[in-house]
Amino acid sequence: MPCYVIYDKDRKPTGHMCGDLGPHCSNCGSGGDNLCDYPVGDGKTCDRSLCGYHSAEVAPDVHYCPAHHDEWLKFKATGGVKRELENVVPFKKP
Ligand SMILES: [Zn+2]
Ligand SMILES: [Zn+2]
Repeated sequence: MPCYVIYDKDRKPTGHMCGDLGPHCSNCGSGGDNLCDYPVGDGKTCDRSLCGYHSAEVAPDVHYCPAHHDEWLKFKATGGVKRELENVVPFKKP
């Protein structure tokens, strides 16, 4: 029977729970509530299972694992999203 680690709000393991509760989070021993929705090509997504703590919600019902959330933040920081928007909407200089 799989066992899951229970964390308190400060991320200290407070105990564990055993039972058939689905996949583990791929980043800790907690239960995986979400899957990483980051596209990895071929119409596939990363699909790593993630607990609430390790899933970053980037849009309603779209979750990224910590590694992919990092990539996404870098992509945004380099202006990737802005450039895409500017291709759709004519960019006017003030
Ligand atoms: Zn986790
Ligand atoms: Zn991922």
